[in-house]
Amino acid sequence: MHDSTLDCASLIPQAGYVRVLRPDLPPEAFSPSRSRAALAPIYVALIALAIVALAHGWIPWPVLPLVSLVIGAAFAGLTFLSHEALHGGIVRGKRAKHVLGWIGFLPFLLSPRLWNAWHGRVHHANANLVDDPDRYPTLAEYRESARARFATDTFSLGGRRWRGGLSLIFGFTVQSFHQLIAARAQGFLSRREHRLAIAETAAGALVWATVAALCGLVPFVFAFVIPHLVANAIVMAFILTNHSLSPRTEINDPLVNSLSVTTPRWIERLTLGFGYHVEHHLFPAMSSRHAPKVRDLLVRRWPERYQAMPLVAALGLLHRTARVYKDATTLVDPRTGAEFSTLLPRERGVLDPRAGRHGDPELGGEHVDELGVRVDRVLGRPTVARAAG
Ligand SMILES: [Zn+2]
Repeated sequence: MHDSTLDCASLIPQAGYVRVLRPDLPPEAFSPSRSRAALAPIYVALIALAIVALAHGWIPWPVLPLVSLVIGAAFAGLTFLSHEALHGGIVRGKRAKHVLGWIGFLPFLLSPRLWNAWHGRVHHANANLVDDPDRYPTLAEYRESARARFATDTFSLGGRRWRGGLSLIFGFTVQSFHQLIAARAQGFLSRREHRLAIAETAAGALVWATVAALCGLVPFVFAFVIPHLVANAIVMAFILTNHSLSPRTEINDPLVNSLSVTTPRWIERLTLGFGYHVEHHLFPAMSSRHAPKVRDLLVRRWPERYQAMPLVAALGLLHRTARVYKDATTLVDPRTGAEFSTLLPRERGVLDPRAGRHGDPELGGEHVDELGVRVDRVLGRPTVARAAG
């Protein structure tokens, strides 16, 4: 018998970690990383230059996909920059955050006002809790909602479905527009705020419509459409790993409901340290420049709770496991009945009432990854496999 979310007794609230960690972090970790604001004009100039070159036909055909790739990477860079800026990690003034946020989210026409509500307020306070707008469905929700079934079975990574790659190349666009449409009904935004959010998105659309009109259809495909898909794939590769392998929790315990992913240093730089996601959920307003210091403290203090693995490994697990929560710590593929444990702290029996699961050599046990962080290999292996129905 398992509850639908992990109970409070075994969880530590975000504030509990913050209280312990804060005294060990240097004061500069709590100041905005203002120099990162300079990345915005650099990315914008790079994108503008590439678009002008495309519009004038300066780029030979064989090189066009490469240019789209570079623009896409710059789009993703701007998106990560916006995320950090709107949390207050780069500038502190409300207007400066908003302007930087709008520019950075232009590749996705995403309103910073909507983002502040959807992500900054609601998601961060409720990551993998019942009210998280970004979480995957429970089994009951999957059974009740045709939309949940369609989204899970058609677009989501899991069940070894390769078409789940669609959530990588369209996911951020679809989720952004869904949140824009649903923001009022879900109570994220007032009527006035909702109108302003739509206006911010419309202003972004106007920018890209002007670019399309000036440069022509085919150059626009290479200047915006393909880069937009590339940027989706980059940001979604991280976003999907943030919480989708983690348990549902009753209170916001970032060490349990979030996962950090590791990448080679150059990718870490280009993605502004977005992989440090546990650290981000502990200190959302802190620039990820300081996240490695938080990680060091976490690995020393809570080695059994802190969850980290390489990005590629996390994506592989997303592909091989399932996206529906049977209970707080069990993912199920409703079509096949295959079940998988979520990531769990590595203390035997602390969070998972199923005795013998942790450290059981049959099921996987533990190993140490290159960070020296113990990884529970239970995840990704079917714990029960039975016929559907
Ligand atoms: Zn965030």
